Amino acid sequence: MPARQLCNLEPAATPEPCIIVIFGASGDLTSRKLIPALFSMYDQGKMPDPFSIVGCSRSAMSDTEFREHLFSQLQDQPEDVSRWQDFAQNLHYQTVTYDTESFGKLADFLQELDRNEQTAGNRVFDLAVPPKLYPRIAELLGQSGLSREEDRFPGWARIIVEKPFGHDLESAIALNNTLHEHFKEEQIFRIDHYMAKETVQNTLILRFANSIFEPLWNRHHVEYIGIMASEELGVGNRAGYYEHTGVLRDMFQNHLMQLLVLTAMEPPYRYEANAVQDEKAKVIRSLRKFSIEQGSRIVLGQYSEGTTGGSSVPGYRDEKGVDSRSPTPTFAFMELFIDNWRWQDVPFYLISGKRLRRKKTRIIIQFKKVPHLLFKDILGEDIGANRLVIETYPEEAIRLIFQTKDPGMAMCLHEMTMDFVYHEHYQKITLDAYARVLLDCIAGDHMLFWRQDGIELSWSFLTPVLQECEECPSPERQLHFYPAGSWGPEAVQQTMNLLIDE
Ligand code: NDP
Repeated sequence: MPARQLCNLEPAATPEPCIIVIFGASGDLTSRKLIPALFSMYDQGKMPDPFSIVGCSRSAMSDTEFREHLFSQLQDQPEDVSRWQDFAQNLHYQTVTYDTESFGKLADFLQELDRNEQTAGNRVFDLAVPPKLYPRIAELLGQSGLSREEDRFPGWARIIVEKPFGHDLESAIALNNTLHEHFKEEQIFRIDHYMAKETVQNTLILRFANSIFEPLWNRHHVEYIGIMASEELGVGNRAGYYEHTGVLRDMFQNHLMQLLVLTAMEPPYRYEANAVQDEKAKVIRSLRKFSIEQGSRIVLGQYSEGTTGGSSVPGYRDEKGVDSRSPTPTFAFMELFIDNWRWQDVPFYLISGKRLRRKKTRIIIQFKKVPHLLFKDILGEDIGANRLVIETYPEEAIRLIFQTKDPGMAMCLHEMTMDFVYHEHYQKITLDAYARVLLDCIAGDHMLFWRQDGIELSWSFLTPVLQECEECPSPERQLHFYPAGSWGPEAVQQTMNLLIDE
């Protein structure tokens, strides 16, 4: 029987004309992620028609200089430069100084652009600036009338807030309050680009469009769940940001929490953003209170000097911009439990760290061993249990591991992997995660974004943990050091071995 393919129309098959305004346009995120994503969308014919992109920041630049700067920063130079030149015609630059006067000028400029380019009064505002500027920009957009949709009906205004969204629960609530003074919840898009990875989205399809997995997806059949995002890179040139953030805020509060809720949530009643967000929120509410004092397991680490990719690399405290006695963790392991009928007492191991041996991002569903080892007398040993691995890096893949018998007279069991590797089946270029979230925002689709309650619940879980870690009299003493290029601190090697498969 031929394989059946069922599709809805791509959500943004006909995105509405709009202006994308990027604040922080002279910065790293804009040149490294946002513009390449927008260009790849243009190249694949997925941009709205017409569209304009307006870069805004304090640096003085002409349109031409802005275009040249962005072109020089492209990591993958286009095969056909004329495609870039066509795209670049839509790029504009405005100097802004984050005060009412410059936002007034910006409002006039956007109105004029709307008239000239027929962009219908639709605007996306992307905050690619340091987080302390998020509230200020939201206020200025409100005061200059740029956030109001009523004035330009049917034109819409949407705001994309980059991570980190807050530093703790209090600051996340304060930021939500400021945003809500000027934008309605449906205008706000809190980004987590992990959610746009194909395998992450496929987790819901795997779970809820197949009948064979869901009956096993619970405490009766699952031994543990591992969620891991290891990075080979160190802090690079982002020390200023990372020193105040650390791995728990940088990776756990957002990306790992999203992977956890996708893995653990109950089936939503339909595939619709609010229905999915409701189920995600329930999972975070069901997380068992985490208290180090009462024995919850957490291991924090920091990389020391070591070797990666054959080269010696410095320890975290010797990186440029890092305090030589920095207590900032670059690695964390947490064991979490979800107190509900499905998951009672199943451990969820969350691990993330910088300068680990290899970059790997994966969710591991480790099933229980068979209840009775009928081969034990013949084999005299244990049989490995089944495992399902949902991997986003190094390959986007889903792998199922199970036992088979080797051919021949001897009774030899062999662990085999049945896998589905995305790029083997889909040669067609897919959109990168940033392109996907931008396109979804233009289409007004909230499925891949955090809703207010989700982000606040996530912070309300993590903030007491951060307080316990940071307010202990000598936080640096609880740090476990690990050599760069290793698999993390000695204290977690046993759990690490369960998750890395090598
Ligand atoms: P940058 O530090 O490169 O800052 C972006 C721009 O903001 C700068 O070019 C600068 O432009 C402007 N800026 C910096 N400081 C100030 C200030 N005090 N007042 C006003 N403007 C300022 O940031 P990134 O591009 O790396 O990141 C932007 C946002 O995206 C951050 O919130 C970050 O956390 C988030 N992010 C970044 C990622 C990345 O890979 N870079 C990944 C994920 C999230 P000018 O001086 O011209 O005004």
